[in-house]
Amino acid sequence: MESLWSDHDAQSFVERYADKHNADIALRVYTSRLIGREPALVLHGGGNTSVKTRLRDDVGDEIDALCVKGSGWDLESLEPAGLPAVRLAPLLALRKLPALSDEDMVNAQRTRMLDASAPNPSVETLLHAFLPHKFIDHSHADAILALVDQPDGEHICRERFGERLGIVPYIMPGFALAKLAAEVYERNPKVEGLLLLKHGLFSFGDDARQSYERHIAAVHSAEAFAQKRRYWSTRNSVPPASSMSYAELAPVLRGLLGEGKRSYQLHLRQSKDIYDFVCDPRLDALCQVGCATPDHVIRTKRFPIVLHLDQGRPVSGQLDSVRAALDNYRKEYRAYFERQLLRKHNGVKPLDPDPRIVLVPGLGIVGVGANAKAARIAADIYEHTIDVIRSAEAVGHYEALPEDDVFDMEYWSLEQAKLGKGQAKALDGKVVYVTGAASGIGAATARCFAKAGATLYLVDRDAERLHALASELQCAYEAFDITNEVAVRASIDHLVQLFGGLDGVVSNAGTAPQARIAQCTTAELDRSFRINLFSHHWVASAATAVLERQGMGGFLLFNASKAAWNPGADFGPYALPKAALLALVKQYALEYGKLGIRANAVNADRIRTGLLDQTALAERARARGLEPDEYYRSNLLGREVTGDDVAQAFLALALAQSTTGSVATVDGGNIAASPR
Ligand SMILES: [Zn+2]
Repeated sequence: MESLWSDHDAQSFVERYADKHNADIALRVYTSRLIGREPALVLHGGGNTSVKTRLRDDVGDEIDALCVKGSGWDLESLEPAGLPAVRLAPLLALRKLPALSDEDMVNAQRTRMLDASAPNPSVETLLHAFLPHKFIDHSHADAILALVDQPDGEHICRERFGERLGIVPYIMPGFALAKLAAEVYERNPKVEGLLLLKHGLFSFGDDARQSYERHIAAVHSAEAFAQKRRYWSTRNSVPPASSMSYAELAPVLRGLLGEGKRSYQLHLRQSKDIYDFVCDPRLDALCQVGCATPDHVIRTKRFPIVLHLDQGRPVSGQLDSVRAALDNYRKEYRAYFERQLLRKHNGVKPLDPDPRIVLVPGLGIVGVGANAKAARIAADIYEHTIDVIRSAEAVGHYEALPEDDVFDMEYWSLEQAKLGKGQAKALDGKVVYVTGAASGIGAATARCFAKAGATLYLVDRDAERLHALASELQCAYEAFDITNEVAVRASIDHLVQLFGGLDGVVSNAGTAPQARIAQCTTAELDRSFRINLFSHHWVASAATAVLERQGMGGFLLFNASKAAWNPGADFGPYALPKAALLALVKQYALEYGKLGIRANAVNADRIRTGLLDQTALAERARARGLEPDEYYRSNLLGREVTGDDVAQAFLALALAQSTTGSVATVDGGNIAASPR
């Protein structure tokens, strides 16, 4: 690893923030980002940095302040607002206390802040405060972990770094660690940083560059040390291609993971290194050692689960062994919790017992999380854990924290707070596929479902508008023609590849072709049936295959039409497939209800969308003696029905656990067109 420092970039940070912030803050942001952008140093909110500087308080007095990374910020995208300022002198006064509980520590930090609305300063704030240096950088670098995660880590570190770095035995972050780190430093004030056994690296300096470059130099040196000795004795590893079908395995896994009570999303990670690791004959032992640094435990749990499956057989024939492995994992997790509760007596509630990392020999890492992001983070962390394990095994033996320390970290309220449990939403963790999503009812439904917490996969043939909506909603999307059955099935497969499964579909895409029925050609009718009937069936059929494997139920929602009950002249090519669509809804409801799969439709009318040519529509309205606006309001309630109203109906049906085979009418009231 090399230093990325650039005088030019440093200067541009100083200029960028010159209006509101001094150069100390600007340079603190600059080198924090240099560290944050390197995943081999920190991952997802890991690590923290600080600077001691002079600031003016609210009465205009100049004071010494510690600006330290706040919780909820990543180093990679740090801004000055992510460095809450704490008065330094009263923080230092805390050191004379013999002990300080976590709650009192958090309170002590908050009551010394300059801005009451700033985020909580890092849980390692006091460690930054008790060291005298102006700039301090902390990471959980892979290469450093390979040296400190050893049975004789102290000896190995001493051999490598001599007196350049102080060595601090493992204590959980908090007041006691802050005091111990300061004492280790004071015993030899010439050190450039501290190695925290089983945890990570602190470096410090008089300026931003010195602290950063000492950090990189230590990591570089650790890398070189492991590299020299590195070997990895796998059998001649074959390239990462497996006969195992992830599309088949993922929904099975997703269904069994939460025992029907908890919803997860999955993220598959593959690479040659990962493949070598999961195929290593020592896998079972190596992966049951523990986390590389304590704060990974909240993302990955202490251990992964290994699924030894027969590569040559379909997953459906191996359900029992997947179920047994998961049951066993949960049993062991619950036993661990019970053991620890006897030790701690502190009445914490158990977290869910499900694994966050699934290792499948022949396939790769499957990250598990409450949403797509959490699943990806778990996979990222484990991918780096593999690097740490390999380097550690090259140097000596990989060793992680014992169970008691891991439990203390996993159930530490300040760690759990990092997961930021927001308010639960109705569709949290649910994966929903929406067709015809780029505009009109589809776009309104996508927005509505996104608000309800769903993870979306949007499809439409209009690539440009779809891309714009997907960027707005930050979700997955795919542009293709829904009248192509092969493409529909491939698209659902792709969704499974991304998220591990699916909870429901909103099959909405459609067109409204017009022709006098007797003169309507077979080709015209065929085109309309392909989009207004068959595409719904293909979506539902591919989705049902996934829902069946998951065994968690699910919903199939269809956009029907008033035309199914109450046809309009010249709308035959539209009304015919829509009438058949109602039969399709009932057929799915009938045949898959026993699996908890619900099929329902929304019957909407007179929505302003691109489906109908607006000029033709104006003519139609005028033919009835109405202005277009009046036409849209000509219903029993006298109000125009919007795409948002239809979206609400889709959402209600998605959540209506006891409703199937039903049609919700959203048309402002029209007795002549009501279903009968
Ligand atoms: Zn740390």
